[in-house]
Amino acid sequence: MTLTAHVDLKSFEKNIATIVESVAPARVWVAVKSHAYGHGMVELADNAISAGAAGLAVLDVPAALTLRSHGITTTLFAWLHGTDTDFESAIDAGIDLGVSTRAQLEQIARVGRGARVHLKIDTGLHRNGFPASEWKDVCELAAGYQRDGDIVVAGVWTHLADANPESDDEALYRFDDALDIARSSGLNPEFVHAAASPTALRNPRARYNLVRVGIAAYGISPFDESDGRNLGLTPVLTLSGTVLSSTDGIATVEGGWFTGIPQVSGDGAWVSVDGEPASIVAVDALTTSIRSDAGVGTVVTFIGGDGPTAELWAEWTGTIGDEILTGIPAAVRRVYER
Ligand SMILES: *Cc1c(COP(=O)(O)O)cnc(C)c1O
Repeated sequence: MTLTAHVDLKSFEKNIATIVESVAPARVWVAVKSHAYGHGMVELADNAISAGAAGLAVLDVPAALTLRSHGITTTLFAWLHGTDTDFESAIDAGIDLGVSTRAQLEQIARVGRGARVHLKIDTGLHRNGFPASEWKDVCELAAGYQRDGDIVVAGVWTHLADANPESDDEALYRFDDALDIARSSGLNPEFVHAAASPTALRNPRARYNLVRVGIAAYGISPFDESDGRNLGLTPVLTLSGTVLSSTDGIATVEGGWFTGIPQVSGDGAWVSVDGEPASIVAVDALTTSIRSDAGVGTVVTFIGGDGPTAELWAEWTGTIGDEILTGIPAAVRRVYER
């Protein structure tokens, strides 16, 4: 067996169903940016929808068009645009477009055809979105375009930092103000959305009528203090390889930092050999040496399954689970199972 990322579709669907139930009556869009956090965007799209997601948040227009070309007909939301973004193709393909600048709004209105836009207000994260100072003018401009039939303002949204409940609340007050201004400008958005995984799971007030959930759908906790299983979620991805050689109690396993195994140093880091932890001696470019007598061909689990969770790897390497998962390159074989 070559190094393989097993993607368990059943766990993915179960996680989504759990999230859908816990945030109801708010609806759920599953975030599938960066190839569904390394799991495979095209492969998982249908499963997200059949598990109860109302749409997919894809990041950019090219990714949305890729999904459309694979026959995915559900709501697709793209919000990160460059100066070269092809809004015309996006509008033809019925993509819901997040809008963060006046230039984007004008470009989209010029294409027209009832383009569906979601106006984004910056509520403190400074990661795009209209500043509060421009918001009223933008809402009035958008309302004019909507009256002319060029656009439909389908949503008003923001993105909350994964900071802490207090700063979330502050951002939510700003968001409510922005929502009032939008409504008094004559807008009546179908969707109001602010929360990603952490706020969707912990703060009912942040759910409005739609949440955009990424990492939790893949069974990884958005919180430092707990892992996915504590939240009733199951990690979807398991990365495993086999022992290539074994001498003097050191086994060399396929899989290294070229193929998504983070470099760890010092004591404590381990992998699973037949369910038993074996400590990592060194992670090299293509192989990892571990302290084990396991023979050639023995399966070793690096991430997920009975091995360490992505959260644990994140703890060892000072990052977050998202980075561990998206760090597994596309060249590593994915196998989809249920
Ligand atoms: C990535 C992303 C999400 C999902 O975030 P998670 O914390 O992984 O749930 C939601 N909304 C936007 C705008 C994002 O960029």
